[in-house]
Amino acid sequence: MRCLALNASFEPLTVVPVRRVRRLVIEGKAEIVEAEGNEPVRSERLVLPRPAIIRLVRFVHVPRRFRRQVTNTFLFARDEYRCQYCSRAVHELRHRECLTRDHLVPLSRGGTNDWTNVVTACSSCNTKKGNQLPEEAGLYPRVPPHEPHFVHLSWAVRRLTATQAKYIRLFYGDAALRALGGLQPAGVLTLA
Ligand SMILES: [Zn+2]
Repeated sequence: MRCLALNASFEPLTVVPVRRVRRLVIEGKAEIVEAEGNEPVRSERLVLPRPAIIRLVRFVHVPRRFRRQVTNTFLFARDEYRCQYCSRAVHELRHRECLTRDHLVPLSRGGTNDWTNVVTACSSCNTKKGNQLPEEAGLYPRVPPHEPHFVHLSWAVRRLTATQAKYIRLFYGDAALRALGGLQPAGVLTLA
């Protein structure tokens, strides 16, 4: 099980493995906000409840460039694991097809890796578009690409326990949780 880490401000930051959480707590850098389940996590010196939520003792400033970083994992999650050109979902792809990153303006023509220039494309559509602009290829994304909220992405690729969901709702409201509800868990990414 993984643990949800909150900033000192209670802003949900990310999920971290329990082993790392244990060290943070022992070193006094984080406090356990909620534990889940009865199974204690044993270390050499003490027994801790299994933490579900921790809160950093000191506020951590998260650089904007980190939040904006585009990885395929997050890109596919933003686009709901669906090719933005032919609309097929990852489970509808044929054998040997996979999800890829497509640049609306190709890198070779001055395009960037910014969120607003990249979309999820199946390998067939990506090949068809090749080195062309959308208007040249006649291929337009079904949703104009946008920069998503980092926390939405974090949750789109991971499973959320009920206790952890409570803290997302607390900070972002129900809309954020609903937006995540329709997305698929990370398991499908193994196909890509
Ligand atoms: Zn496609």
